[in-house]
Amino acid sequence: MKKLTLIAAALALAATMTSPVAVAQQKFVTIGTGGVTGVYYVAGGAICRLMNKERAKHGIRCSVESTAGSVYNINTIKGGELDFGVTQSDVQFNAVKGLAQFKDGGAHSDLRAVFSIYPEVLMFLVRKESGIKKFEDLKGKRFNVSTPGSGTRATIDMLLTGMNMKTSDFSLTSELKPDEHGAALCDNKIDAFGYVIGNPAANIQDPTTTCGAKLVSLVGPAVDKLVNDYPYFAHATIPGGTYPGNPDATKTFGVMASFVTSAKVPDNVVYAMVSAVFDNFEEFKKLHPAFANADPKDMIKNGMSAPLHPGAVKYYKEKGWM
Ligand code: GLU
Repeated sequence: MKKLTLIAAALALAATMTSPVAVAQQKFVTIGTGGVTGVYYVAGGAICRLMNKERAKHGIRCSVESTAGSVYNINTIKGGELDFGVTQSDVQFNAVKGLAQFKDGGAHSDLRAVFSIYPEVLMFLVRKESGIKKFEDLKGKRFNVSTPGSGTRATIDMLLTGMNMKTSDFSLTSELKPDEHGAALCDNKIDAFGYVIGNPAANIQDPTTTCGAKLVSLVGPAVDKLVNDYPYFAHATIPGGTYPGNPDATKTFGVMASFVTSAKVPDNVVYAMVSAVFDNFEEFKKLHPAFANADPKDMIKNGMSAPLHPGAVKYYKEKGWM
């Protein structure tokens, strides 16, 4: 008799564990990233992995979506279809102020910053036979300006304006996704592409290895002016030897990769997300070499123009970081 009661109790417990109520309490969050060969996809995956490990604590299941990149992520967070996204700090700035790509849609007043992660820079890669030694040499050549909705495209548009160049200066202007531009370069369909990406990146390593693609420095008065005029741009150097066949240092400029959300996402969800990352920070840093030098003190202030989400602030205050 006693045994039967125990079995009945066990069955009742099992029933509550899988009841519709328990299922309804399970929340889902989605992080918008970039192309599957980019670093955003790895960053989103790393955050979700740490978050999902602690699911018993918070009941939230995290998943990533491959997207066009920064601008798409911010617009889709605004539309409520994504909860979180990775975005370039220049794009975040423009979204907060309603500038550039966000002029028509207006300022995104609900955009909230969570943290920044790592520096990402504009990589300018050319075919080794192209004869391109500087950005201006692109005139009359085939250039991939990246897909609309990407942060890369937003940054390239600013560089083109700064250089007094237009897409009509190229013999071909393609809008291939980052997952396609390396193969297009090696198949001689384009002469060059630009990509705002964290280093080292598999996406850049591939064409340098497969067809000896060359990195070209972005320097000169136009780049200096961009860095002087805009708070989010900084000069950057990729050390020589980072990529095969490119033994010299490459000079360029860049931004920060940042992690954002909406004011509409509940505090406990954002709190669970930042706890998962910072409570397991040593593990996080190992998930991609671009994260290796990340430092929480910088991550909670650099590259962010949107207000911090209150769920993140709660955790940072508890840690004594604010
Ligand atoms: N910064 C790129 C963009 O917003 C994405 C880079 C990546 O996927 O790692 O278009």
